[in-house]
Amino acid sequence: MANDKKFVQSITSRSEDFAQWYTDVVKEAKLCDYSSVKGCLNYLPNGYAIWENIQQDLDKRFKETGVENVYLPVLIPESLLKKEQNHIEGFAPEVAWVTHGGGEELEERFCVRPTSETLFCDHWQKVVKSYRDLPLVWNQWNSVFRWEKTTRPFLRSREFLWQEGHTLHATSEEALERTLQMFKVYIDFVTEDLAIPLVYGKKTESEKFAGAEATYTIEAMMHDGKALQSATSHFFGSEFPDSFDIKYLDKNNKLHSAYETSWGLSTRIIGAIIMVHGDDSGLVLPPRIAPTQAIVIPIAQHKEGVIEKANEVVELLKKNNIRTKIDDSEKSPGFKFAEQEMLGIPVRIEIGPKDIENNECVIVRRDNREKIVVKLDNLGNELPKILETIQKDMYDKAKNFLDEHIYEATTMEEMKKISNEKVGFIKAMWCGDPECEDYIKFETNGFGSRCIQENEKISDKCIYCGKDAKELVIWGKSY
Ligand SMILES: [Zn+2]
Repeated sequence: MANDKKFVQSITSRSEDFAQWYTDVVKEAKLCDYSSVKGCLNYLPNGYAIWENIQQDLDKRFKETGVENVYLPVLIPESLLKKEQNHIEGFAPEVAWVTHGGGEELEERFCVRPTSETLFCDHWQKVVKSYRDLPLVWNQWNSVFRWEKTTRPFLRSREFLWQEGHTLHATSEEALERTLQMFKVYIDFVTEDLAIPLVYGKKTESEKFAGAEATYTIEAMMHDGKALQSATSHFFGSEFPDSFDIKYLDKNNKLHSAYETSWGLSTRIIGAIIMVHGDDSGLVLPPRIAPTQAIVIPIAQHKEGVIEKANEVVELLKKNNIRTKIDDSEKSPGFKFAEQEMLGIPVRIEIGPKDIENNECVIVRRDNREKIVVKLDNLGNELPKILETIQKDMYDKAKNFLDEHIYEATTMEEMKKISNEKVGFIKAMWCGDPECEDYIKFETNGFGSRCIQENEKISDKCIYCGKDAKELVIWGKSY
């Protein structure tokens, strides 16, 4: 038992120190660790397996909308990066440069891609001639590099994994439609597959992506009340393609500008899964993306027939497409339970001599520790239903937390009071002036604008300057 205790006590409680809790969970669940390249992560099997499931589910959703996957190089010539002014200004401070190759100094230096809009445009400029070549709806799964000063596992690292979608269209309407379509894909994926409730909408001018006309964001609330920007979809209009001289001939043989979008979701989302669902015993993974959905733990496994029966259960569940493992190691059952909890495996299945006698097993849910006794004959039918219930309950629990931590303010006094006393988001009206936005953030100690809520209104006046309000904004501290 000494060992069991040590294992559980090795993580700090969330209420004591949330940041330390997060670091402890990442370490104890063996998701990733720092490599000897400063600020870069080694994605370990437990963490990478989550990413693989995310990739698989999201990629399927992309392809259902007509997306095709491609792969472009990791290096971008400096001259290309410089073609769009806002874009280069936005990324310049974080760019890493390659100056030498094959032992010689390069004539033109290359940057390690911080994002690939410029490479896509460079290619499109060469291949897009006519309206028949459009639309192009492409995506790549890759890594990008940004020279971040402070880093945290999954949330901010110099190299991270993501997908970046890039599309090119004949009309502005079509490009905007695609921007919103992919925005919707992210909303559905994150709420349905990751059981993470969201607030979402357009970013303000000062928060939008460098070079974009509009950025749409999905934001999740972590257990400490802070926001995590979880995916974004950008509408570029024609300015970006124009700066690369991308033109196509329309049906009347006239030269036309093309319109661009880009959209991305990264391994940051693993940080969101940890901080939305995790508890003081470790990770809690939503069944749909959990690498292992059920772990079978034989009890009194030295007794005759126990391990054999446990293995039969594993085979049965695998046949029912449940990702199942068995832990028949020498560790004590208590230690195995603690380990299952730390790794966030949605259910464990306990099976011992008594259960076998009764032709049943005990299912223990990770999310609420509920014990469910199931007849072995029904297990193949029952467990998928239990996993779906867990998925739904996890979403509902997180949704309640989100709803309980969104406040409204109509005066600055009120807003400052809430920001001092509570954690969470605040809804308040805003006039559209970036100066007011800055002051609000300053006076609330960091509640920046997260997203605009169109068609919603709680007063007529900007909370800061008192002028006519244009928009309702959700404000919050963020990662
Ligand atoms: Zn104002």
